[in-house]
Amino acid sequence: MNGFPFPCLEGVSLAEHTTIRLGGPSRFFAECRTLEEIRRCLLWARTQGLRVQVLGRGSNILFADAGFDGVVLKAALKDLSFQETGAWAEVQAGAGENLDMLVRLCVEKGLSGIECLSGIPGAVGAVPIQNVGAYGQEAAETIRTVKVLDLRTLEEAEFAGKECRFGYRQSRFKSDDLGRYVVTQVAFRLRKGGRPEVRHAELAASLASSGAADLKAVREAVLALRRKKSMVVDPADPESVSVGSFFMNPVLPRESFEGLERRWRSMGGEASVPAFIVPEGVKVAAAWLVERAGFEKGYRRGGVGISANHALALVNRGGTTRELLALARDIQAKVLDKFGVRLELEPAVVE
Ligand SMILES: Cc1cc2nc3c(=O)[nH]c(=O)nc-3n(C[C@H](O)[C@H](O)[C@H](O)COP(=O)(O)OP(=O)(O)OC[C@H]3O[C@@H](n4cnc5c(N)ncnc54)[C@H](O)[C@@H]3O)c2cc1C
Repeated sequence: MNGFPFPCLEGVSLAEHTTIRLGGPSRFFAECRTLEEIRRCLLWARTQGLRVQVLGRGSNILFADAGFDGVVLKAALKDLSFQETGAWAEVQAGAGENLDMLVRLCVEKGLSGIECLSGIPGAVGAVPIQNVGAYGQEAAETIRTVKVLDLRTLEEAEFAGKECRFGYRQSRFKSDDLGRYVVTQVAFRLRKGGRPEVRHAELAASLASSGAADLKAVREAVLALRRKKSMVVDPADPESVSVGSFFMNPVLPRESFEGLERRWRSMGGEASVPAFIVPEGVKVAAAWLVERAGFEKGYRRGGVGISANHALALVNRGGTTRELLALARDIQAKVLDKFGVRLELEPAVVE
């Protein structure tokens, strides 16, 4: 325990705790497995006047090359329970549980609602932060409650799904309450014996060609599609050394989207801009904007670049955070200049 009132190490390389393998050392690194350990860690950090950065499995976060001059608190609480009532099952999972392991277990138990989230790296505690989603499914659809610990008061609180203000890759935890809470547990409400609801065209086409459409088939199809795009973390695949999508798909008011289409046509663009209608407006494919702004898949610059299999995934090829952020800023600037659309970053950047 080296004198700390909670499990803590000093000078831990953050690159080793992130899927993009970037980031210098953390002055202190605490892997907290219980609420009590989290509380002790937060109190200690407060008495030392140190900043605290919460970490899950490091798949959506970018640390500075200089590292972090504070305490990185890895929320590693493990607990898992299934409770059945009528047609539903409530699944409670500790923040430190592996999301993909949870999805696999639920699929095996015939519980539907999170099967399309197969293959997303990360811990359960991070799921509500950006309302993870893929292939037509979002965590917000099944999250019943989120338990948190307030970093300021050290008190526990619980939010119903509706109170989390979920949106596309968005929630209260990533906006108004950014940095205020540690998520300690998430409860999902899943349907027993459920049939998958396939809403994504590419997934539907893949299932149609295999002829199967049960939960297991959906999970396998999603994993296969993701592997093709290097969207599962695979030590054998250098294109997966990323944080997944680096940019979110911009959602534009309808008039702005019409302006974008006019602009594209005036440039001689033949096809229309790929987009689809969402309640908030028109969601435009960021990957299309990135490629049309001159950043093709496989683009390389120094030690960083763009995945050969996914235009939105910036990859680390032995470079630095500084190089990666410079590339991201360049892409943003070119897209803004050419299309008048501002791309927002998806991962947390901790400098
Ligand atoms: C190859 C690849 C594919 C991906 N595909 C997808 C995808 O399809 N859809 C998608 O939505 N995302 C995707 N992601 C992004 C990422 O996996 C998810 O956002 C995931 O939820 C992040 O989990 P994490 O535990 O790694 O969080 P981290 O990266 O450790 O943290 C991310 C943010 O959440 C905060 N956080 C983490 N845990 C807690 C907690 N317990 N309490 C409070 N705050 C916390 C951190 O402070 C940070 O701000 C992908 C990433 C990769 C590398």
